[in-house]
Amino acid sequence: MSIIVVGSSAFDDIETPRGSRKRIVGGSCIYFSLAASFKTKVNIVSVVGRDFPKKTIQTLNKRLISTEGLVVKTGKTFSWGGKYNSFSEDPETNFTNLNVFESFSPEIPDSYKKKKSILFLANIDPVLQNKVIDLYEKPRMVGLDTMNFWIGSKRRDLLKILRKVDILTINELELRLIGRKKSLHDCMRVLTEDIGIKFLIVKRGSGGSLLVTKKSFDWVPSYPFCDVVDPTGAGDSYAGALFSSLDIVPFLNTSVIIDSMVYASALSSFTIESFGVESLLKLKKKDILKRERELRKIARI
Ligand code: AMP
Repeated sequence: MSIIVVGSSAFDDIETPRGSRKRIVGGSCIYFSLAASFKTKVNIVSVVGRDFPKKTIQTLNKRLISTEGLVVKTGKTFSWGGKYNSFSEDPETNFTNLNVFESFSPEIPDSYKKKKSILFLANIDPVLQNKVIDLYEKPRMVGLDTMNFWIGSKRRDLLKILRKVDILTINELELRLIGRKKSLHDCMRVLTEDIGIKFLIVKRGSGGSLLVTKKSFDWVPSYPFCDVVDPTGAGDSYAGALFSSLDIVPFLNTSVIIDSMVYASALSSFTIESFGVESLLKLKKKDILKRERELRKIARI
């Protein structure tokens, strides 16, 4: 089993109430694949410039993350600057430089197509997300994440791809921006009933995550004892952990998803305890399992 992830690889400038960092490695696909690699094989489709560190690519490969679909282009790597005024709010975007992403046309290497994989369309231009789903006809399961930047600028392309998604992982602000209704509940209806998302996961930071279907609501708490330093990548790590855990299930239902959401909450709580991917690189499987057990006990799941 394996996951193909299509997303951004980046340099991030981050400011939080606990400090700041410049040009650290980030991007939706990097966080996702590091988190997913604890349970499954990950195949990356992304693009970087020649300035992207070779050492990072080697680190990914050591974790059995395939970078055959990571294109290195002449030009600069995508970069993003974000500022968290508090840990309870979404970050303010200081800049988004698409750079090599502007002319990127994703390809899926043949070696990735051998087995029926899960396809995860991480936060990236919805035009590229649509291209990839057309290239890879029959994924076993399709997951998607997005953000305000794309909901505002590429709404039509985003709505087109959403109709093909099994599991959507977004936060509350993104839910409101897509749903365009006053109440959160009505926004959820737009997604599950009008657009037809089978499983909608709404990430609420320290408020845990909701699983919403046409007929049900479930809630999983986040790990309550973590020391937040930098929330960047929490959503992508959550998705990586979630889909890696779903990679072994024969079919989707709410109970297997809830089970995977607990694992995802436990794993992503580590990401936010240091800047960038620092925690993910140091993390051991036994630490995740310990936190997962603790969370199951607290949540009585
Ligand atoms: P999150 O998990 O939502 O905190 O995602 C954080 C990552 O998203 C950062 O490492 C950024 O490099 C990346 N990012 C920020 N803006 C965009 C964008 N417009 N498209 C794709 N990736 C982005």
